[in-house]
Amino acid sequence: MNDYYPFINTPLPYACDALEPFIDEKTMHLHHDRHLQTYIDNLNRFLEENPALQEYSLEELLILWRRLPCHLQAPLRNNAGGVYNHRFYFDGMRSAPSPAGTDSPLTRAMARQFGSPENFRSQFREAALSVFGSGYAWLVSDNGQLRIVTSSNQNTPVLNFRTLILNIDVWEHAYYLKHYNLRAAYIDDWFRVVNWAEAENRFSSGRHRESSPLF
Ligand code: MN
Repeated sequence: MNDYYPFINTPLPYACDALEPFIDEKTMHLHHDRHLQTYIDNLNRFLEENPALQEYSLEELLILWRRLPCHLQAPLRNNAGGVYNHRFYFDGMRSAPSPAGTDSPLTRAMARQFGSPENFRSQFREAALSVFGSGYAWLVSDNGQLRIVTSSNQNTPVLNFRTLILNIDVWEHAYYLKHYNLRAAYIDDWFRVVNWAEAENRFSSGRHRESSPLF
């Protein structure tokens, strides 16, 4: 992972056509190589102009933007968020089927919180559908409690939750070529390519970090 300036567009962890037929090759190509690249280029340009911020990691930048002068806040929030959110989204998918474990810590937490995997799925789907305009739906953990939250544009829940488990990008560029305006169909297809092993890792490692300050 490339977490410090200068940021580079690390390759997808799978081929662009690996998520077919659920998410199409052209969408993945444009999404990673153009949309994410633009956020990376803009973030690098911003940090080039603000060298005092170059020592911070991507995650630290997502925390400290609020302490900066007003005119620096939006460009940093939008571009650092765009890099972080997209990497998190791409890494949260995989081509090979990755069923949720039946007796893993995350599965047990989901059963406690939502009653069943189906209930989780239906609540997450509703949340992703409810994002007005562009943004993301997230599965996060707060003191061991799972929660489903949404964010607008390239905002992230990093400020409020130490453990982020999954996100779905519901900007139209994530699905319009294949699913047109049918966000619900895209969400259902996204569920077919969720990387549950990665979600488990994020849940477990995040739980260990929750009690320590970020910096
Ligand atoms: Mn996107």
